[in-house]
Amino acid sequence: MARYTGSVCRLCRREGAKLFLKGDRCYTEKCAVARRGYPPGEHGQRRRRTSEYGLQLREKQKLRRIYGVHEAQFARYFDMAERRRGITGENLLAILETRLDNVVYRLGLGASRAEARQLVRHGHIYVNGRRVSIPSYELREGDEISVRPASKNLVHFKSLAEAGPVTVPAWLSVNEDRLGGKVLSVPTRDQIDLDIQEHLIVELYSR
Ligand code: SF4
Repeated sequence: MARYTGSVCRLCRREGAKLFLKGDRCYTEKCAVARRGYPPGEHGQRRRRTSEYGLQLREKQKLRRIYGVHEAQFARYFDMAERRRGITGENLLAILETRLDNVVYRLGLGASRAEARQLVRHGHIYVNGRRVSIPSYELREGDEISVRPASKNLVHFKSLAEAGPVTVPAWLSVNEDRLGGKVLSVPTRDQIDLDIQEHLIVELYSR
């Protein structure tokens, strides 16, 4: 499947919610959702009724777009979530949260998930002391994430180290130098700060 190369703000407007795809800009008044909070396109401002299926589909698209995951991969994640013990929707969120690119973003090493993905792809990130350049790499409890020693001299990482402390979710810990951290546990639903109704996605795939 081709990579989406259009405007990411358009995706937020389509979902009617801030998906925080652009980093710092998302927190300013320049945010497209704040300025034009209706769907994009010629008929964007029309009122429309949404069916039950439509609601489920939108919720799935929203979650998929937040993490930047393609349709086929998302379906594979759903399969994995179904096969694991526990609640499928919560398993799905935990799988997405423990992707390496997401953890790099949560540790504040990238301003957005897209930037974090690029850092991983470019080989700047180590897991347990070894380079891992696969953004979808699934982290487990106890895994340690760090910046490649040679990359610490790059302006990007130097400015992060000088920027001071960062707040991370309770299931992660951050190193003193800010350039890495550890997965303390697999996140539970209440530790995942996302406005998503995952039961709608489970209903969609159960059709
Ligand atoms: Fe979405 Fe960020 Fe663009 Fe706002 S600025 S529309 S939150 S990507």
